[in-house]
Amino acid sequence: MKKSEQLQDLRRREMVEMLQRYGVANRRVLDAFLEVPRHLFLDGEAREVAYHDAAYPIGFGQTISQPYTAAFMTVLLVERCASGKVLEIGTGSGYQAAILDYLGYSVFTVERIAELYERAENLFSRLGLDITCCLGDGTLGWKSESPFDGIMITAGAPREPQTLLDQLAQNGCMVLPIGDFCSQQMTVIRRSGDEFKKEVFQQFSFVPLVGKEGWNDDTVY
Ligand code: SAM
Repeated sequence: MKKSEQLQDLRRREMVEMLQRYGVANRRVLDAFLEVPRHLFLDGEAREVAYHDAAYPIGFGQTISQPYTAAFMTVLLVERCASGKVLEIGTGSGYQAAILDYLGYSVFTVERIAELYERAENLFSRLGLDITCCLGDGTLGWKSESPFDGIMITAGAPREPQTLLDQLAQNGCMVLPIGDFCSQQMTVIRRSGDEFKKEVFQQFSFVPLVGKEGWNDDTVY
């Protein structure tokens, strides 16, 4: 193994130790963060700091989420929905989708920005990841592939998109941040029949979910 790769492995182990200090205890999730090379989802100088607990720009005003944020959401999903088909809204760099793939889910991911979608799709194919991507407005879901056991929205939503609730399987759950432009409360919604039970967690700060059932494009820019 090259020296630079050994260094990234060491940094990745340190990142996982940091996640543990922050309270992430789920072994499956920690193992996924140990295995997925976050630096490959970043470009240029950001690669050098890929294992810091920070969100970094990925172009087009978007970011790769902080490792702690991604781990927090992943634990919420894994503990309520251990396997099956998962839809991610907001492919971005592709890192979160790769974590879900490593955990053994069948992963579908939607991105609204063409350049990010293309970059992630190419990267998944270079890394040999079996992740299905689509370009479009993720607030409308992916009807032909529904129902989903899990749905994860990795952008800040004003409210839960009804179309996505309709695409949840029985006992399926959705993990998403809900709030305003500055901060959002991490939320889990679980389907039981036609009822949806909500749990709320701590505040985070995400770029906005833009779409028919998200924020209006004109409001955001
Ligand atoms: N999960 C990503 C990762 O691992 O890098 C980080 C997601 S980034 C915080 C939010 C992403 O959601 C951006 O790439 C943004 O373009 C995308 N997005 C926002 N609204 C969307 C929508 N309606 N449909 C699909 N993607 C959307």
